[in-house]
Amino acid sequence: MSAVVEVPVKENDLVSYNPANSKEVGRVKVSSEKDVQEAVERSRKAFKIWQKTSFAERKRIVMRAREVILAEMDEIARTISDEMGKPVAEALSAEITPVLDLMQYFAKNTEKMLRPEKRGIGLLGLMGRSSKIIYKPVGVVGIIPAWNFPFSIPLGEVVMAIMAGNTVVLKPSELTPLTGKKIGEIFEIANLPKDVLQIVQGAGETGAALVDSGVNKIMFTGSVATGKKIAENAAKHLTSVVLELGGKDPMVVFADANLEKASSAAVWGGFTNSGQACSSVERLYVEEKVADKFTKMVVEKTKKLRQGFGNDANTDVGSMSSERQTKIVEDHIQAFKDSGAEILTGGKRNEELGEIFFEPTVIKNATNKMRPMQEETFGPTLPIATFKTEDEAIELANDTDFGLTASVWTSDLSRGKRIAEKILAGTVNVNEVLYTHGIGQTPWGGFKDSGYGRTHGREGLMELVVPQHIHVNRFLFTPDVWWFGYSQNAIDTFKEMARTFASGSLVKTVGLLPQMWKRIKELNKKDE
Ligand code: NDP
Repeated sequence: MSAVVEVPVKENDLVSYNPANSKEVGRVKVSSEKDVQEAVERSRKAFKIWQKTSFAERKRIVMRAREVILAEMDEIARTISDEMGKPVAEALSAEITPVLDLMQYFAKNTEKMLRPEKRGIGLLGLMGRSSKIIYKPVGVVGIIPAWNFPFSIPLGEVVMAIMAGNTVVLKPSELTPLTGKKIGEIFEIANLPKDVLQIVQGAGETGAALVDSGVNKIMFTGSVATGKKIAENAAKHLTSVVLELGGKDPMVVFADANLEKASSAAVWGGFTNSGQACSSVERLYVEEKVADKFTKMVVEKTKKLRQGFGNDANTDVGSMSSERQTKIVEDHIQAFKDSGAEILTGGKRNEELGEIFFEPTVIKNATNKMRPMQEETFGPTLPIATFKTEDEAIELANDTDFGLTASVWTSDLSRGKRIAEKILAGTVNVNEVLYTHGIGQTPWGGFKDSGYGRTHGREGLMELVVPQHIHVNRFLFTPDVWWFGYSQNAIDTFKEMARTFASGSLVKTVGLLPQMWKRIKELNKKDE
């Protein structure tokens, strides 16, 4: 049985342990507050040059980084698995594959998405003016990710940030420093100019130093509690923040769903990454008339899962990533039991494999009143509750402080889509579960306590740029009618303008012209 390792900081070294066997995976140097500050200063200098590079040059580097990943795929997957305890298969399917897709997508499409845009300005357009919006990089972006998808989440954000012309300082989670280091090495091999991407290492204090360093944007992924601290600290510097926080995602299964498929989805959605995914299924609501049958299917499929070490190709469910997280799972299981729910399978640490392995657990008779149906578990638990009507299902799904993702299962697709629109979550899937963070083309982010701002998609790219409005007046000699030199004539003109602008009618603008002309003459006379 493996011993449990916590707080892996040794003197000035941050030691990364494999949680499944407590063996050291490697170590990195901890960055001091001064190191973080200096990294941000270097980043600011690098930004001056990087922001001027062409999209073609940025694309070339990102596409090269993609080649590096493809060439080192096995080693990268192994490092992720070793640091986190997840199966190598999941490092490949849920991290490496989707982020490679994201890389090629943003490499090829960022220029198009950030193309300057002419904006119609209504009646002012008829008065010789035009407006164009251009998108400028924000500057230095600080990225602070969680440990659960230590490769795909930060790397996706790095790619989007640098494609938009920003420079980046990334602080990986203290549990996954080597995966973070690897991201830096990939771009070094891809010839990304020095200091465009820097990695600083350490625990929460290093993250806090990064927030305090005056970067121009923080992209944070983690818990609600840390997210609130970050928002508070960032506010002191007026730094804007994207917060990708926790979830308590519901899966709603109607009687007409394909129960065979839905039960497999529930098992994968609840237990992949040992349930340590922000969009894991954390609450399962099943229509009462099929609940017994469905629960039986879920339990049978759960019992067939093979729990084991991440480097075993046949492992379905790996270890937990930390003792801290495992204790939360235990606490929630106890709370379920204490409030009358029934554990159908699992419910305890896996004694054969080691205490950091928690058995996939299915729980019956859960209700929303139970504490662990409201708090994020972030572990391998599938609590099942039942409902009778569509309205009740929607109410139960929405009865939460979170709103990251949700899923609705039914053979009636129009009903599925109708219900999806009534659930308050950043992404709602119909007959699909959990995986949409893997679609780099679509926005990712939460409602309510699941955070604000978006990553991925055009919406995510927009978080990494500032729109600049360029406004031009082609009439070189005429004064603006609203300038000084107010008079009764000015007041009459403004009233007429107010009526015309309120109508938005071009025909009315023509009627306004004599009044405007009178006002311009008045102003010109004043200037003589
Ligand atoms: P934490 O909030 O504990 O940590 C997240 C990151 O913040 C880590 O890098 C951490 O460093 C760092 N950090 C901790 N304290 C501070 C601080 N005061 N200032 C700046 N940075 C700090 O979350 P976890 O790593 O435990 O991740 C799990 C959480 O992440 C879950 O709630 C999960 O739902 C959420 N999550 C959300 C996702 C989303 O897209 N919405 C995706 C993935 C996870 P260190 O680890 O070194 O302490």
